[in-house]
Amino acid sequence: MSIKQTSTKWNLSVPLFALSALSVQGRLAAAEPPNIVCIFVDDHAFQAISAYDHPISKLAPTPNIDRLAKRGMVFRESFVENSISSPSRATLLTGLYSHQHGQTRLGCCLDDQKTWFPELLQHNGYTTSVFGKWHLNAEPKGFDYYDILFDQGEYYNPKFRRPDTQGKYLPEEGYVTTLITDHALAWLDQVTDEREPFFMLLNHKAPHRNWMPDLANLDLFNDIDFPEPATLFDDYATRGTQMQTQELTIARHLGYAFDFKVEELAGEPTLPYIQESWPGAIGQLNKQQRAIWDEAYKKQNAQFLKNRPVGRDLVKWKYQRYIKDYCRTIRSVDEQVGRLLDYLEKKGILDNTFIVYTSDQGFLLGEHGLYDKRFMYEASFRTPLIISYPPWVKENSTCDKLVQNIDLAPTFLDVAQVDIPGEYVGMSLVPLLKHERKHPWRKELYYHFYDYPAVGNVRKHDGIRTDRYKLIHWYGEGYGGDPAIDLWEMYDLKNDPEEIHNIYDNNHFKKQRKALHHRLTKLRKDINISE
Ligand code: CA
Repeated sequence: MSIKQTSTKWNLSVPLFALSALSVQGRLAAAEPPNIVCIFVDDHAFQAISAYDHPISKLAPTPNIDRLAKRGMVFRESFVENSISSPSRATLLTGLYSHQHGQTRLGCCLDDQKTWFPELLQHNGYTTSVFGKWHLNAEPKGFDYYDILFDQGEYYNPKFRRPDTQGKYLPEEGYVTTLITDHALAWLDQVTDEREPFFMLLNHKAPHRNWMPDLANLDLFNDIDFPEPATLFDDYATRGTQMQTQELTIARHLGYAFDFKVEELAGEPTLPYIQESWPGAIGQLNKQQRAIWDEAYKKQNAQFLKNRPVGRDLVKWKYQRYIKDYCRTIRSVDEQVGRLLDYLEKKGILDNTFIVYTSDQGFLLGEHGLYDKRFMYEASFRTPLIISYPPWVKENSTCDKLVQNIDLAPTFLDVAQVDIPGEYVGMSLVPLLKHERKHPWRKELYYHFYDYPAVGNVRKHDGIRTDRYKLIHWYGEGYGGDPAIDLWEMYDLKNDPEEIHNIYDNNHFKKQRKALHHRLTKLRKDINISE
């Protein structure tokens, strides 16, 4: 498959000042644009937000994120267009599909000449900032202030770079989720009394791998057994070789030290990058932090080391340790979201601030025996999306339209009463937030994952999802012994929500298969992707 780098929709010749002039005129006649906060979390699965009502979140609730849901709208059919960090971050900023902004893979190749929506907000009177994880090979643009982590960022005593640190990342003592919030609130202290509206992008590092909880939360959930997903022992019977060669299983591809925090087994064979990552991660803790950490995990590991389970029991143990640490890091995110909401409430601006809670993608919490993202399967293709803005959004409302991360940039501009550039491919969510039920909306989503060969060894694939069916095409040359592939999967999400039965070769669905092929071909053509 090749990608055309040009797009007929592309129109970057419109100068920024022209857009601003138009929108300022528009604004004179309308109410003042509101403050906007986008809480953009890393790898937060919807299954671990209690507003989504999943069994996992019943045991590890998120009361503060739920406060947003109670005050606003939960998007129950929200997705990404490429389930991985840097591409998703670039899509958030540019309003474009991965092949259009260039950051198709983790390491490559963002075209930083595209218009980022914060630039347009800035040109239209907004004061703008970004905090936390950045993870793009480009300088922040369109932000009056930034305070960003180095690369993925560390959980303990992380390093931050700001405009006044002369390009250096300086370490700070503390836990990353709390520190990011500290920085954000300090900036808000400076701007909330100003006349100009503000836009703040708050990018948490948690709950990204390797799921290192705050010291106060190390013992959370010790006495709980989380429910296992129905597909924890999926044998991929109806799928092709790409599921035999991927390296993201809980059973075989997580490391005892780096992922499960059993340092006594740090020498056990695992993938080299996992083995190499542990000393750096645990080495971030200072002596006092380390003592508390060691004591907690020593207790948790004692029984496991004494009577080591095998076979399915070992996979069950691994799943429990994985999900507990994952949810422990989310406890901090939830608490810090509460702190931010309390702050806005105290300032008297909670009701007139447009607040978005979302993640750079979803995450597999044991579904199909997997952790991580990348796949077009539901748990990783989906991403949580909750929006609170009382002037428009009814309390406790939900939306079941197919929305995608390409929709966020146009939404922010629409909310700010700024004209949306013609090249943006998404749709503003504002009509949905205003409960305009008859507003025309899309009937299908396009997805494309490109990051192969890479960590996880997930093959390239693209596909289409409607409200009922999903068609996936796995393709491309193989590396490191993997075969070249050209494979198809199709799922009936109504009758097979767990995506166990690949019905691509089932002639009972011949008509639907043909229609999906037709729609996928058209989608690719519309956005200039051709085979
Ligand atoms: Ca991520």
